[in-house]
Amino acid sequence: MPGQSQKTSLIVPLTHPTPEAMRAGMRAADAAGADMVECRLDYLEKVDRPALRALLKDRPLPVIMTFRPARQGGRFDGREPDRLGILFTAGKLGADYLDVEDDVPESHRPRGRVILSHHDFAFLSQGPEDAVTACRILRGAGKPAIALAMGEHGATSRILARKFGAFGTFASLQEGAESAPGQFTIQQMKTLYRWDCIGPATAVYGVIGCPVVHSMSPAIHNAAFAHAGVDAVYVPLRIEPGPESFNRFMHALRQAPWMDFRGLSVTIPHKENALAAVGEESVDELSRRIGAVNTIRIEADGTLRGWNSDYAAAMDALVGAMGIRREDLAGRNVAVLGAGGAARAIVAALTYYHAAVTIYNRTVSRGERLAAEFGAAARGREALEYLEAEILINCTSIGMYPDMDASPIPPHVLQGVQVVFDTVYNPIETRLLREAAEAGCRTVCGVDMFVGQAATQFETWTGRQAPRELMRKVVLKHLTDPQP
Ligand code: NAP
Repeated sequence: MPGQSQKTSLIVPLTHPTPEAMRAGMRAADAAGADMVECRLDYLEKVDRPALRALLKDRPLPVIMTFRPARQGGRFDGREPDRLGILFTAGKLGADYLDVEDDVPESHRPRGRVILSHHDFAFLSQGPEDAVTACRILRGAGKPAIALAMGEHGATSRILARKFGAFGTFASLQEGAESAPGQFTIQQMKTLYRWDCIGPATAVYGVIGCPVVHSMSPAIHNAAFAHAGVDAVYVPLRIEPGPESFNRFMHALRQAPWMDFRGLSVTIPHKENALAAVGEESVDELSRRIGAVNTIRIEADGTLRGWNSDYAAAMDALVGAMGIRREDLAGRNVAVLGAGGAARAIVAALTYYHAAVTIYNRTVSRGERLAAEFGAAARGREALEYLEAEILINCTSIGMYPDMDASPIPPHVLQGVQVVFDTVYNPIETRLLREAAEAGCRTVCGVDMFVGQAATQFETWTGRQAPRELMRKVVLKHLTDPQP
């Protein structure tokens, strides 16, 4: 494959206002493990020969000198001869690479190691299929190249640059210091996205959703891959709502088996689209009844298999805490609060195991529709005053961050309930769970379900036992300190 033999550099763009600050940035980039820096001269307050000398003297890392004009998204809006003159000087002073825009006529370009660049800020990527296009460009480039799809949709092209033997990819020193939309920090690239482990054979997994920027899944799965020594990386895949956007990406994946995508997690709002893409015949009976899958496995021949690990994880968390089997749920009175996506998966599973389920929902008609589909009963929320249930499961978002003082039911209703399961996982201990514990109920937290569904995905994809304790630790750390 072209370009595979060269090392792909992790390049930190420096956007400081003075040469001194930029030099401090160089040292920080070196300490953070960067391979190269890009001095963005257009960010400097003053650019002259002494500034260039100061930047190049005893530099700890190879330097790309870039003096980006406004017409290609940069900050320099002065005369073109002055701009090119600075780049000539930088070349004479020994800059390792000079970035020259492709619209500069060949006769005007400085000599030396030139990176010919083109930036189209008017075209931000529309979906992760544009990142696949960028990877295709890298594969066919025939010479060292950088091809990145900008914006959140382009994340995969930044992370997989090394898999496809790119010249480099860019990562900022810290959040807020990005030189282009969608850039990760160097710490995220190295710690979260396994930069140093990525190679040509690395398998790719990802989470599809909208939004996905705050998803904990990349942290959990990448940590699990690292722990288990699996040559794989897990990326965020933002896909805008609607089956068209979902199908566009799936089509792009089918056309690009060399991307080595092996599995996908699917979250809101695409779980139903995922089932349609996989095909009803390729999922288990309960997932089909639920009408949604959150796990896709891509077989070597490109065929897709789907699962719903949400319901399985919810059942396992519940029966595990009660010390019973799923079959022992038969005949037990269960109150389910809510009638959305989570409630649907849980009601389908509970009724499958013959529990006696009553749904309490704010919008009564929605609760009634769900109940009718799965043979449950439905009531309005006011009927909670007369609750008679052995098990209560909250499937509403009430009590979730940032409204942590809220609870879906008053505590006196909990008298007589034996087990309270809150699917909300942020915060780890909701007000409902706190009050349930005070009322003497056994409690099951949403983190158990969340870790369970991620662990099932890992096992479905790799055929290995998931490192559940590690995955749980990552979730708990993320919920208490969201930095990678
Ligand atoms: P959803 O489809 O939007 O449904 C939300 C449900 O909550 C609806 O029934 C809605 O009632 C009800 N609701 C929302 N705000 C309410 C309020 N102020 N008062 C009364 N009812 C209210 O959401 P979802 O996907 O089912 O998710 C629900 C919860 O499950 C979330 O908190 C999520 O964190 C949790 N969850 C956890 C996991 C896990 O792994 N632990 C997995 C999936 C989901 P209406 O029908 O009247 O609008």
